[in-house]
Amino acid sequence: MENTHIRPGDALIVVDVQRDFLPGGALGVPAGDEIVPALNRAIASFERAGLPVYYSRDWHTPDHCSFRAQGGPWPPHCIAGSKGAAFATALRVPDDAAVISKATTRAQDAYSAFQGTTLARQLEAAGVGRVFVGGLATDYCVKATVIDARANGFEVEVLGDAVRAVEVQPGDGERALQEMLKSGANLTTTHF
Ligand SMILES: [Zn+2]
Repeated sequence: MENTHIRPGDALIVVDVQRDFLPGGALGVPAGDEIVPALNRAIASFERAGLPVYYSRDWHTPDHCSFRAQGGPWPPHCIAGSKGAAFATALRVPDDAAVISKATTRAQDAYSAFQGTTLARQLEAAGVGRVFVGGLATDYCVKATVIDARANGFEVEVLGDAVRAVEVQPGDGERALQEMLKSGANLTTTHF
């Protein structure tokens, strides 16, 4: 793992660092809270360099199709406007943060921050060629976001010290990282 220096044309995507995905939340990712200091360091570096930061979030209806009551795999989580859907209290989020809400309608689920959103267009409009990705969870929304970023033609750096996995099956996190690397993403850290 090599450190990668940030430069003009880079953007940071912070994936789903919401209270429901932290330990104790409705769908807590083990040790998910441990990535917040690393993410805050990355966010501060991007801010200092004048580079854009995007925050994705699950933003579901109370009867969302991914919830078990509707036949989905997950307990209710990240219901739009709820406390659990808020960003982690300790996460650095500027007042003018670019927030990407996803899976906002009952019938649509979206692990990727690109799915059903304007993220790709926003990145292109901002002249972004390379994205750094961290957040939750490695084996779901981070993986899907990284693979979609590659499919949309962006270079991708995965922040290995700023992601954590759900691990429904042991090894899911490592397998997800391998899939991301296979898609052409690189692995780096928040120590720019
Ligand atoms: Zn969800």
